[in-house]
Amino acid sequence: MSNVRTALIFSPLFGSYSYGDEHPFKLQRYHLARELMEAYGLLQLPGMEIRDCRPVTDELVLSFHEPDYIARLKEFSASQEARADFRFGLGDADCPVFQGLYDCAALGAGATFEAARLVEEEGFQIAFNLAGGWHHAHPAKAAGFSYLNDAVLAINWLVARGRRVVYLDIDAHHGDGVQEAFYDSDRVLTISLHESGIYFFPGTGFEDEVGLGAGKGYSVNVPLLAHTDDALYMKAFDEVAYPLIAAYDPDIIVTQLGVDTFRTDPLTRLEITTHSYSYIMRKLKAFKIPWVALGGGGYDLLNTARAWTIAWAEMNGVKLDPHLPGAFIKTIKPLGYPHRSLLDAMHWSEEHERNLALDAVERSIAKIKETVFPGILDGYGTITGA
Ligand SMILES: [Zn+2]
Repeated sequence: MSNVRTALIFSPLFGSYSYGDEHPFKLQRYHLARELMEAYGLLQLPGMEIRDCRPVTDELVLSFHEPDYIARLKEFSASQEARADFRFGLGDADCPVFQGLYDCAALGAGATFEAARLVEEEGFQIAFNLAGGWHHAHPAKAAGFSYLNDAVLAINWLVARGRRVVYLDIDAHHGDGVQEAFYDSDRVLTISLHESGIYFFPGTGFEDEVGLGAGKGYSVNVPLLAHTDDALYMKAFDEVAYPLIAAYDPDIIVTQLGVDTFRTDPLTRLEITTHSYSYIMRKLKAFKIPWVALGGGGYDLLNTARAWTIAWAEMNGVKLDPHLPGAFIKTIKPLGYPHRSLLDAMHWSEEHERNLALDAVERSIAKIKETVFPGILDGYGTITGA
């Protein structure tokens, strides 16, 4: 058991909104994750607190988003009619318009701000907002289920207080909105591991996107081919993300912990399991750098519940029984989930596809070592440990 102070941000209002029955994004995920944490006894640990949150302020929203876009979001949110405005990315299949839409987005972003505030002002070592990680929102455009870019808003607040931040994004999709926000800044190092954008949303996140001006060398992208499995994913993390975070040595790490990388996710083609996910959580914790953790994608509800429970246990230094608690099995069985185990076996993808994915990741790593490493590693001293 560790003696760090940790906070889980949880509003009883999470899950009281809906993107619609047909939409893959289900807000029920937060409740399922919380039930699993509860069943494991992870909500009554020494040093941890559960904190409520408020909607994010307009002032912080306008530190990134355009006033016209926000006005339109609020107008649509208050309306009972079906509305659309494609200039702002509103009303398509990905970003539906529903009543209370703005309140839902502002609450999620407020929870991320609260996580950042607890770490920055109240001495928490780690704060976790499951209902965050809306990394595709742009200044004046909703995209990929994201309306307000909570990570950008919280990081803007931290940077205004003089902090240097690493933003690490392990969602299956490129963290495009966050990269864009800090593309010309060396105060925020963004690192995104994701399925390659060649044929995949949002179509960005290649190795040559390295930043501009003062930010040149502070945007890092590892595009991964379909069928990238646990060992390849850990390789990308160990050879790119880990040494860069260690060398940059930020005041705070903000992570987007999407779970749509899992091989059982219905929307993506990476083949990750709880094995590499747990491994990365352990390595992040070991940095002992104040940590703001956010949820993200994940369209199999049991994957989000299991992965975020694993993450929260790791953050609190608790080892979990690999068999799911009986009470939780009883809850999920009627929902159609046959799972009995918290953990997946480590997974290797099929040989031919794996060889292609291995070649691709080796080429990406080599390119990043050539373009990005010299600036960050020479600028901030040598790496200790690996
Ligand atoms: Zn995603």
